[in-house]
Amino acid sequence: MPYQLNEKLRGLTPYDPIEGEYRIRLDANESFLPLPPNVRAQLQERIACLPFERYPDPLCGELCRAFAGYYDIDPAYVTAGNGSDELISILTGSFLMKGQTVATLEPDFSMYRFYASAAEMKTVSIPKEENLQISVDKVIDACRAQRPDMLIFSNPCNPTGQGLAKEEVRRLITALEDVLVVVDEAYMDFWDQSLISEVIRYDNAVLLRTCSKAVGGAGMRLGFAVANQQITNALRAIKSPYNVNSMSQAAGACLLSHKQELQQAKETLIAARQELQAGLERLAGAYSQLCVYPSCTNFVLVALPHTKELFDYLKSNGIVVRYMGRYLRITAGNPEENSALLQQVENFLAHDATV
Ligand SMILES: *Cc1c(COP(=O)(O)O)cnc(C)c1O
Repeated sequence: MPYQLNEKLRGLTPYDPIEGEYRIRLDANESFLPLPPNVRAQLQERIACLPFERYPDPLCGELCRAFAGYYDIDPAYVTAGNGSDELISILTGSFLMKGQTVATLEPDFSMYRFYASAAEMKTVSIPKEENLQISVDKVIDACRAQRPDMLIFSNPCNPTGQGLAKEEVRRLITALEDVLVVVDEAYMDFWDQSLISEVIRYDNAVLLRTCSKAVGGAGMRLGFAVANQQITNALRAIKSPYNVNSMSQAAGACLLSHKQELQQAKETLIAARQELQAGLERLAGAYSQLCVYPSCTNFVLVALPHTKELFDYLKSNGIVVRYMGRYLRITAGNPEENSALLQQVENFLAHDATV
């Protein structure tokens, strides 16, 4: 018998971010702000004198100290990853035994199930409410019934844009004491309900952060896990030793030490989302087929009857957003990008209403 890919691999296709050149990219929830010039200059200097012939620091000491400094926590409980995607892959794969069960909430970030399935874990999905919010009581009940070994969800959530208040997350972690609860706070810089300063007090919780969104370093591929000493030791032991390259370590350490610039960038991104949201809500007032969900992130989720048509229409006008079946997820762009997007959505809706 000639070699054949196993059935897990056979149907897979590479991750396909939108191909081609588009004027306006509002599909990946990145920051639209380039690095401030002083940060870029410092970073170039750092990278110019790195010892490229040597392996990088396996524990990312300087990087983790800079991250911990920015969030005012203890670096002893921080593990760096090659993007938080790598940490999600480790947690849903190597951190469990083969065949254990990972629970996800739906809708949520699709990579949780993807990595869990790739590692041959069982997955169960717990539906959210009609308005896309999370009912903690229902999640607790579902976990008691289905007995997963891990629960992973994003807070605030990609793609819904909505968040779960701190007390509710605490209640979930406490109630599910024999489940490892992974809280992915990729968008928490845009909101104020983080558990980052208290997560180490729990025996069963891991918190994830990333440089890819509010921090504006998606190209650096840097993610972080914060957890108690036992979990941190295990994560550091199971990850690949040189998972974060020297350039990213230096770049991240440099970027994260510029607290003031990062705070300012965050405010700009929040203002851009508020502007986009207000504009979309204005359109929803005029065109009843458009439904706009609340957001505490840097993107806005909308629903309408003809999402595919609107997606294609925007694309043909040089604007890409994220198409998600019943929904479109739109990243906040700069003022010009937001107003171009709103103008084209309005053109579409005005025409759509007449056909
Ligand atoms: C963007 C995003 C991440 C970040 O992934 P990186 O690998 O750090 O770029 C993680 N979780 C969610 C929910 C995201 O939307």
